[in-house]
Amino acid sequence: MIQVAVEPYIAGSYMVCLVKPDGSWSTRDEKNTILYQTDWDYPSLANNLGHVVCPHGTSDGTVACKECGKTATDFITEACNFLDELCGVVLEVGEGYFGGLWPVGSEYLETQLYKRD
Ligand SMILES: [Zn+2]
Repeated sequence: MIQVAVEPYIAGSYMVCLVKPDGSWSTRDEKNTILYQTDWDYPSLANNLGHVVCPHGTSDGTVACKECGKTATDFITEACNFLDELCGVVLEVGEGYFGGLWPVGSEYLETQLYKRD
């Protein structure tokens, strides 16, 4: 597991920040942040942080669900509400999804993975 925190970023986007060993994080630390700035990316980001995008499992949040009638816009709005509530909270997540996304040279990621065992 690694620790991350979501922060609101410019123009309604979100930044996922790797939490440093001392428990702090920064949106200005380019090697330890991932920017999500496209609406279509928000449902999958929220899903990877514990949000159930569609209980019917027929949509990943980018297409409408025929079961509940929600549109992609509905799913994106719900994902944004979920992410807004998470902002500033330290989250433990598996490194499987985020692990490959960090920019090369993230020393905090190596530190976090190393301290696991
Ligand atoms: Zn549905």
